[in-house]
Amino acid sequence: MPRKTTPKKTAPKRRQCGTTGAHERLLEANPAMRARHARLERFTDRCIQSGHASRLMRQEITIPVVVHVVFKTAEENISAAQVRSQITALNRDYRAKNRDAAGVPTVWKGLAPSPNVTFVLATRDANGNPTNGITRTKTTRDSFGTGDSVKASPDGVAPWPTKQYLNLWVCTLAGGLLGYAQFPGGPAATDGVVILNTAFGTVGTPAAPFDLGRTATHEVGHWLNLHHIWGDRDDCGGTDYVSDTPNAQHPNYGTPTFPHPSCHNAPDGDMFMNYMDYVDDRAMVMFTTGQAARMNATLAGPRSSFLAPTAERAR
Ligand SMILES: [Zn+2]
Repeated sequence: MPRKTTPKKTAPKRRQCGTTGAHERLLEANPAMRARHARLERFTDRCIQSGHASRLMRQEITIPVVVHVVFKTAEENISAAQVRSQITALNRDYRAKNRDAAGVPTVWKGLAPSPNVTFVLATRDANGNPTNGITRTKTTRDSFGTGDSVKASPDGVAPWPTKQYLNLWVCTLAGGLLGYAQFPGGPAATDGVVILNTAFGTVGTPAAPFDLGRTATHEVGHWLNLHHIWGDRDDCGGTDYVSDTPNAQHPNYGTPTFPHPSCHNAPDGDMFMNYMDYVDDRAMVMFTTGQAARMNATLAGPRSSFLAPTAERAR
């Protein structure tokens, strides 16, 4: 008998992202990827040092998105309105239009620019046919993990061409997982972002404290090569490869009170209100200048197809 996964119907209480674990597994399975990532890191450095990434930040970049809804129950088959609310939330955060940015502590107020990235639901599929940018696939699975079966048949659906579209899969994830993304430089067949349906969008089925669409903000940050702000190690030796985010020891959860020092970063402490920490949706409100530059360096490099005219045609 195949082992069945018991669906997790209770909403997650604290943020848990599967990106780092999935990335480590990919590196283990593809030794060449480690060298590719080292090269990518050197490119990113040069792109930021030369000022190219900052220049790109002044240019509006539009990314066509396709949302793949993979469902077993009617409730999991989320509405188009819920999908659209997620795109609106992404644009709020990636254009720094979020009003709650007023909560950024004074010491970091000057550090929260607009990454200047815009997301639109695709209006043309890869064959040029009209689309609303949403696909719907019925599955027999109660839930998915980070094993990528949501990204292929028979359990899920394959991505649209990943050089032209940001692929977002929305499904039920097991084990309290809110989402996971694939960093740039990985296999095309699995490139994109997976998000728990009850942490997706701002209307419909999202459940507090993950009902402001920020799981996607966080995961798309990974897709644009951002790492967790504490560097995924608990000995203060980790890095997120960004110089204007304080070194931090652990993820922060819930809605912390400023300041929360760790790793000799007093008096200001951890930048827990950053989208790349693990706090609740209403407690994360900013990317830094360094993170915005890093994302734009990604758009100048491994994701440069989104600057090309083909991306325009795909919209
Ligand atoms: Zn994450």
